[in-house]
Amino acid sequence: MRSVTINPAKMCQPIGAMYALFGIHAAAPLVHGSQGCAAYPMRMFNRHFREPVQVAVSALGEDAAVFGGAENLVASIENVIARRHPDLIGVITTCLSETIGDDIEGAIRGGDFGKSKVIPIHTPSYVGSHVTGYDNALKSLVADLSGNSASEDGGEDRVNIIPGMINPGDVCEVKHILDLMRVPHTVISDISETLDAPLILPKPPFPEGGTSIDELVNSAKACGVISLCDHAGGTAAKFLSGKYGMTADSVCPVGVVNTDRFLDSLCNMTGVEVPYSLEKERGRLIDAMVDVHQYTYGKRAAIYGDPDISLAIAEFVSELGMDPVIISSSTASGKFLRRAKGITDGEILNGRDLYELQLAVEMVCPEILFGNTHCKLIADKEKLAFIRCGFPVSDRIGYQRHGITGYRGGIYLADLITNAILDRYGQHG
Ligand code: SF4
Repeated sequence: MRSVTINPAKMCQPIGAMYALFGIHAAAPLVHGSQGCAAYPMRMFNRHFREPVQVAVSALGEDAAVFGGAENLVASIENVIARRHPDLIGVITTCLSETIGDDIEGAIRGGDFGKSKVIPIHTPSYVGSHVTGYDNALKSLVADLSGNSASEDGGEDRVNIIPGMINPGDVCEVKHILDLMRVPHTVISDISETLDAPLILPKPPFPEGGTSIDELVNSAKACGVISLCDHAGGTAAKFLSGKYGMTADSVCPVGVVNTDRFLDSLCNMTGVEVPYSLEKERGRLIDAMVDVHQYTYGKRAAIYGDPDISLAIAEFVSELGMDPVIISSSTASGKFLRRAKGITDGEILNGRDLYELQLAVEMVCPEILFGNTHCKLIADKEKLAFIRCGFPVSDRIGYQRHGITGYRGGIYLADLITNAILDRYGQHG
């Protein structure tokens, strides 16, 4: 067993918490840590989403490390309010502030922050990953805000959707399905507009869209909640289900079977029926799969990603007749391991680094690799067809705008896979 990580496959918890806060309307992420804890994630978000995200930081230095960072925290909250007037500030902890043991809740309780809600989000980076950070942030948001004087009128036919760390294009596809089914919904958190914002001058202080505080409050009244990524949002779904008695489910709608399951879940929760328009979309996906089967059948695939995305893609490539010979998760998890064993007899890398992935690729010899930009070096070295998926993808333009969720997303993904195979192996490869 190595005691060093080579080419890490995961990022730290605060990144996941920032991702979650970008989907809340007029929310400002405030990192309680040193400057680098905000600078490096911002660069990553800029390059993936091509959007100018803003992240504040309490800029802890040596003195705060010794005497505590509460003063920095209160001063930085007041600064953010004075400059940006946010509806909500999420205080995201880091390795440093968690190790110092700063009393974040106490500092927030003692302050007067006017109309801005300030919510502590604990994201100690020495455990878990960005996926854990997203999950923790969602849990903090719904635990703090849901049910706080929820309005009296209706809302019981709504469904809460917790998307996880997927792209704006993925969220749009899920909302497209919900609209076709006429299911009222609240997406928590909704990055479909905030991280794909139009350029309009004068630039507003916050982008339009995102989940409002009122929607978060009223999420308590929904009839059901579906987390698309169980590892990133599943805890919040369980909280809503446990506290308010709503039905909870988790399914990542990538591919035919998983999208069918998503629709079934919506039907069971709300009593609606699947419209003909969605049956046609499903039929088009099946048709696209038949069209590409001659190229995809029997191809050996290695898949790396966040646990739920990796599993969902592995299931979809199986539907395409491919053989998922390596399934790898950025984040170690017993649930991932159990589900992956049901999909493949091949290699399962549970929270291992990219060096381990490279060794597995050299040993198992797949023909196609799925992964984020960091996996490109492996694909190039081993001369594999390469499909970019997950976060971050910084070496392609527009990737974040296209969804792989739903039936339409399945068509897009089937096309991507097939074109990558054709590029690498030609018509008869
Ligand atoms: S691992 Fe810790 S020190 Fe490094 S960026 Fe993340 S929170 Fe900051």
